[in-house]
Amino acid sequence: MLFVISSPSGAGKSTVSRKLLAADTGLEMSVSVTTRPIRPGEVDGVDYHFVDLARFREMVTAGEFLEWAHVFGHRYGTPRAPVEAMLAAGRDILFDIDWQGAQQLHQLAGGDVVRVFIFPPSMEELERRLRSRATDSEEVIAARMARATTEVGHWDGYDYVLVNQDADVCFGALKTILDAERHRRSRQTGLIGFVRSLTRDPIVQG
Ligand code: 5GP
Repeated sequence: MLFVISSPSGAGKSTVSRKLLAADTGLEMSVSVTTRPIRPGEVDGVDYHFVDLARFREMVTAGEFLEWAHVFGHRYGTPRAPVEAMLAAGRDILFDIDWQGAQQLHQLAGGDVVRVFIFPPSMEELERRLRSRATDSEEVIAARMARATTEVGHWDGYDYVLVNQDADVCFGALKTILDAERHRRSRQTGLIGFVRSLTRDPIVQG
C-alpha cells in the first residue's frame, strides 16, 4: 500500500509519522531526495538524501524519480528504486510529500494510494510552531505560512483529513486509517485461495 501524508510544514506531521513507523513494523518510510540545505539535527540518508541541483537534474533525466516537485524554491523527489524494492518485499510505504507529489503518485498508481491530509489546529498555532523550531529566518517563516495556505487549499485531493490538535490522538486516528485500509477487500488477494476452499467454488474472484 502507498500511504501518503501531507500537511503544511510545522503541522506536526513528522512527529506523528515517526510514531506510526515505530508502532507498525509493516510500514517503511520513503526517504526523499532534496536540493534544500541540511538543517541542524538532520541526517543525510535518514531524513533526506541531500544532493546538489546538478545531481538532482541527472536523476530526473535518468527517470530515477516516481514524482518530484518544486517546494519552497528547492526540489524534492521520491526515488523510484527503493519504493519498488519495498513493494516487492511486501512492505507498505509511508510518503511524507506535498500535494503535488500526492497527485502524481495517485495518477501513477491508478488511484490506488491512500492520501491523508493533516491540518494544524489553527494558522496561529502553525506560526507559533514554526517559530519555536528556531531554524528558519523570518523570510522563510513568512514563505512557509504563505505556502501553508496553498497546501490547505488542496485538501480536497485527499481521502482522509485530520486536525492535529494532539499528537497522540492524531497518531491514533492515522493508525486506525492504516489498519482499515489494509482490510479492504481489494487488498486481500492473499485470501482468494482461502475463500475458494470455504465456498468450494473454483471461480471465486478476488
Ligand atoms: P521540509 O523542507 O520542511 O522538510 O519539507 C517541505 C515540504 O516538502 C513538505 O511539505 C514535504 O511534504 C515536501 N516533500 C518532502 N519530500 C518530498 C518529495 O519527495 N516530493 C514532494 N512532492 N514533496 C516532498
